[in-house]
Amino acid sequence: MSALPPCPQCSSEYTYQDGALLVCPECAHEWSAGETAESAETDKVIRDSVGNPLQDGDTVTVIKDLKVKGSSLVVKVGTKVKNIRLVDGDHDIDCKIDGIGAMKLKSEFVKKA
Ligand SMILES: [Zn+2]
Repeated sequence: MSALPPCPQCSSEYTYQDGALLVCPECAHEWSAGETAESAETDKVIRDSVGNPLQDGDTVTVIKDLKVKGSSLVVKVGTKVKNIRLVDGDHDIDCKIDGIGAMKLKSEFVKKA
């Protein structure tokens, strides 16, 4: 219950929920929880190098040679990567590459195939 927003009218932190409404015990202000709740549903769209939105399961092509961290392997430009999985972070694509194994890529270095 600590996640309730403070009262928009008097900034009291002692708000409580009453059904679909939030109630402030200090100024008796009532408001709907949806009005102040931030839209946490906004999914971040991950796009490839040319702006195509990417989805889990997509096949992408690597657009530049990428060194694999901690090894001498290089993912060559033009490598096809199947069945990508989008993740949060600096490297936003989780995938498995033939001959290399599981690794993470940056969406800016791939193009949807
Ligand atoms: Zn209030």
